[in-house]
Amino acid sequence: MIHVETYRLLLEECSAHGARLIAVSKDKSVQDIRALYDLGQRKFGENRVQELVAKAGELPADIEWYMIGHLQTNKVKLIVPLVTMIQSVDSYRLLVEVNKRALHHGRVIDCLLQMHIAKEETKFGFDKDELEVMLQNEAWRSLTAVRIRGLMGIATMTDDVEQVRGEFRTLRELQKALMASHFAGDPGFSELSMGMSSDYRLALQEGSTMIRVGSLVFGSR
Ligand SMILES: *Cc1c(COP(=O)(O)O)cnc(C)c1O
Repeated sequence: MIHVETYRLLLEECSAHGARLIAVSKDKSVQDIRALYDLGQRKFGENRVQELVAKAGELPADIEWYMIGHLQTNKVKLIVPLVTMIQSVDSYRLLVEVNKRALHHGRVIDCLLQMHIAKEETKFGFDKDELEVMLQNEAWRSLTAVRIRGLMGIATMTDDVEQVRGEFRTLRELQKALMASHFAGDPGFSELSMGMSSDYRLALQEGSTMIRVGSLVFGSR
């Protein structure tokens, strides 16, 4: 079941902030995705490789698939032909693998670097120092089949609004700093993927360009 009214309101809020909506369809049926597709939605997010591959095979080819979950290098080859963007790049090794497979398919894959911004230990992502080490070493610039488009982050699961706001702000400030340093002169480095069902409003206020919303649109899992 999809929540049509909520979906339309989300679209309006996104549009008011110049942001886009990624409908997170993990654990959702092909029928539900199809229903949202019929309302015009084309950007869908999945967090598991097998599920993304299976769904892509059953659904219209003009769907744009966003990989948003932790990705193992040995599975990269399965999604490279299918995805519009990989938002969960959390190591240089993974970036190298995406580049290799993208070259093989004659594609250039848009990627976001996932940053660890939450207090929880379990979340994946670079921390600031790891990112700086990777970027300082200019080897990433020779990976011509990946395009680093910006940053992605998942805030702490908490009711503490100021905590979440602070994490989003940290991510935006980092993005701004990178725009002026390692990515100076690259207008393509412009994306900030942050905000989920519980915190998308805060994320939009803090400058998100893409919110990733699942349960609000599809109902809770
Ligand atoms: C599941 C998921 C979402 C969406 O979560 P909801 O709370 O259902 O909106 C967003 N981002 C990532 C990385 C996810 O895994």
